[in-house]
Amino acid sequence: MSAFGACRQMLRAVAGRGWRPRSSKPAPSAHAKRPGAGFSFELTDEQKEFQATARKFAVEEVIPVAAQYDKTGEYPLPLIKRAWELGLMNSHIPESCGGLGLGTFESCLITEELAYGCTGVQTAIEGNSLGEMPVIIAGNEQQQKKYLGRMIEEPLMCAYCVTEPGAGSDVAGIKTKAEKKGDEYVINGQKMWITNGGKANWYFLLARTDPDPKAPAGKAFTGFIVEANSPGIQVGRKEMNMGQRCSDTRGIVFEDVRVPKENVLLGEGAGFKIAMGAFDKTRPPVAAGAVGLAKRALDEATKYALERKTFGKPIVEHQAVSFMLAEMAMKVELARMAYQRAAWEVDAGRRNTYYASIAKAFAGDVANQVAMDAVQIFGGNGFNTEYPVEKLMRDAKIYQIYEGTAQIQRMIIAREHIGKYKA
Ligand SMILES: Cc1cc2nc3c(=O)[nH]c(=O)nc-3n(C[C@H](O)[C@H](O)[C@H](O)COP(=O)(O)OP(=O)(O)OC[C@H]3O[C@@H](n4cnc5c(N)ncnc54)[C@H](O)[C@@H]3O)c2cc1C
Repeated sequence: MSAFGACRQMLRAVAGRGWRPRSSKPAPSAHAKRPGAGFSFELTDEQKEFQATARKFAVEEVIPVAAQYDKTGEYPLPLIKRAWELGLMNSHIPESCGGLGLGTFESCLITEELAYGCTGVQTAIEGNSLGEMPVIIAGNEQQQKKYLGRMIEEPLMCAYCVTEPGAGSDVAGIKTKAEKKGDEYVINGQKMWITNGGKANWYFLLARTDPDPKAPAGKAFTGFIVEANSPGIQVGRKEMNMGQRCSDTRGIVFEDVRVPKENVLLGEGAGFKIAMGAFDKTRPPVAAGAVGLAKRALDEATKYALERKTFGKPIVEHQAVSFMLAEMAMKVELARMAYQRAAWEVDAGRRNTYYASIAKAFAGDVANQVAMDAVQIFGGNGFNTEYPVEKLMRDAKIYQIYEGTAQIQRMIIAREHIGKYKA
């Protein structure tokens, strides 16, 4: 029997046993009438509009000043105010608080474009989303109206205060404590690496409320909203980082800071879940930021390769260079699909922890690989501050560190993956 005949016989046998997966049945006629229905890469008109607004802002207003902000490390307040005016900030704040109430998917589209302009600016803006997310997912109506509402009234910043000098990846190792005294909590401790730390109007803060070291993480910590002007808060110096230098990163000391019990999110002991739960909605935008940076590196490298000549022809005509660009393009496209899937899952109301970590880990690595390749394509010029790609390479590194390192993402992916086999 020919190989073809054997194959056909096998397929018949499989079909006869009813092995055809149910999911392979076509959906009832939806596709015939509306191409793409049920699965589509087409953005809605509204999504295209947000994307176009963010792109225009990034290209016309951010890119021209990005190198200067990188050089000085100055906080990009005029750009932040402008992004706020254009509705490109705090886009996920619910409509009940005056916000646009956009989904994670739409926020990601905006973030990718902002990051294309400058990831220092994008991180400052994203720091707001991270600070706000615990209040969005766990705040009561009064807390949301008070703290999210004011972000819509004015271009204010907020921050997410979890990491400490002694504990980053190991969140359960934080030492900041909150003790209940009457109707207040008294907070003592030290936070580190807080984005928008010196600019925030209020903080989301995670502190230990159960002094028993054996208490499980799911019960030992509480999430608070803390007004940044509370007595006892000392904001440290701006840290001089490798990249994203205009973003404001600081240590903060809390010494006998009194917080009313009304500012507890959900209830005592619920903080760890809230702090970690926020990442399901904030990791897809972080991945989108990494994609924006990688796309910028790809564009810069491609334009340069078309112009720069060696051995009598543009370097893009050397196959080694064109293949590098092809690899970079593959990575950008796939990283974008990863963040879109992660965002789509959470917007559909599904637990997306697995996809969010895949997107964050993959896009973070892609940003670094693509930025490094862009520097290579620029040759000596790539190593110089007169050209845009050395900044991209420095800026990329943080995507493998903040909001859970590359290693921590892999631990989560492995846990989620292996868990499916054990269930
Ligand atoms: C610019 C910047 C902005 C930041 N913004 C914020 C913010 O706004 N709010 C906030 O709360 N935090 C923020 N962070 C903190 C950031 O989230 C932490 O730095 C990060 O989670 C890593 O923690 P760490 O620095 O303590 O490193 P560590 O946890 O000490 O890790 C050191 C190394 O060990 C690896 N590692 C640790 N544990 C394991 C393990 N179990 N298995 C394998 N490898 C492991 C890590 O991957 C890393 O490579 C920011 C950091 C920076 C640099």
